[in-house]
Amino acid sequence: MGIEPSVTSPRLLHDAYAILAERPVRPIAGGTDLMVALTAELGEPPDQIVDLWGLDELRGITVDSGALSLGALTTYTEIRRSAVCREHLPVLVEAAATIGAAQIQNRGTLGGNVANASPAGDTLPVLLAADATFVLGSIRGERTVASSEFWPAYRRTALAPDELLLRIRIPLLAGREMRFRKVGTRRAQSISKVVMALGWRDGEPAEPRSVAAPWTEVRLALGSVAATPIRARATEAALEGRPPTPETADQAAEALAAELHPIDDVRSTAEYRRIVAARVLHRLIREAGGW
Ligand SMILES: Cc1cc2nc3c(=O)[nH]c(=O)nc-3n(C[C@H](O)[C@H](O)[C@H](O)COP(=O)(O)OP(=O)(O)OC[C@H]3O[C@@H](n4cnc5c(N)ncnc54)[C@H](O)[C@@H]3O)c2cc1C
Repeated sequence: MGIEPSVTSPRLLHDAYAILAERPVRPIAGGTDLMVALTAELGEPPDQIVDLWGLDELRGITVDSGALSLGALTTYTEIRRSAVCREHLPVLVEAAATIGAAQIQNRGTLGGNVANASPAGDTLPVLLAADATFVLGSIRGERTVASSEFWPAYRRTALAPDELLLRIRIPLLAGREMRFRKVGTRRAQSISKVVMALGWRDGEPAEPRSVAAPWTEVRLALGSVAATPIRARATEAALEGRPPTPETADQAAEALAAELHPIDDVRSTAEYRRIVAARVLHRLIREAGGW
């Protein structure tokens, strides 16, 4: 049995800030994670809730100052239907399409995925690999935190108790390519065992006739393989400056298997995750190289 929390539903952001500054209160967006906690089966449920759903200031998908900006309340359905997302960051649309089923996609938000800080959150590797930043706000003002700094430990975030996540900003880099892959028990409604996002830009080919350009600014991010979503920096270094050839793929897959130290849990063994992550990376490089 759950408890009946007290819920406040402000319509203006500064009213929400005032509530958060006054007392310990838990934000709720779509509620698809938080409602599970309200049954008290997963730890202490919150007794005071501030409902963000009426805050129009946390909505909207725009492109400004060279970045794709998504309000924290953007749902997966909105991402899937957004022509702006499809044009500028199709890999986020692909990730959104793998989350839950229609009901969860209609209600679950990108901001909720970020703030919930599950290592299995499917959009988090995409945001890490895309060098996303998060705009946080409170009665004290706004600040921006890099995604690489946002999840310091298991289920922890850089959010202070009185802060809200306002927007997710993704710099739009000319010529950036990204790929996404989620491995779960089945195609729908599954929590990932391994989730991966890979990003790069094509550099100048070493010789004019070389078929594949070397990769630069490589980003490789993974979820479900550690206590937090992570960047695989040794593997990124192994890929940097190399074209996507079979040799590169073999070496990068080896580097990733050596770099990862996943956990055993109910969904999968550490060994399975390591082997699958290395194979998924190999396949993504092969697909990118067209061989
Ligand atoms: C059946 C089912 C299937 C699911 N499948 C997937 C899946 O495939 N992949 C996946 O990644 N997730 C999945 N989820 C988890 C969930 O749907 C997502 O994490 C979703 O994005 C959470 O968003 P929400 O708006 O519902 O968050 P909420 O439940 O409202 O909030 C989640 C947490 O974030 C905090 N929070 C939310 N918004 C803000 C904000 N703007 N500022 C500060 N704190 C905030 C809340 O206080 C809470 O701690 C699934 C859940 C269910 C129930």
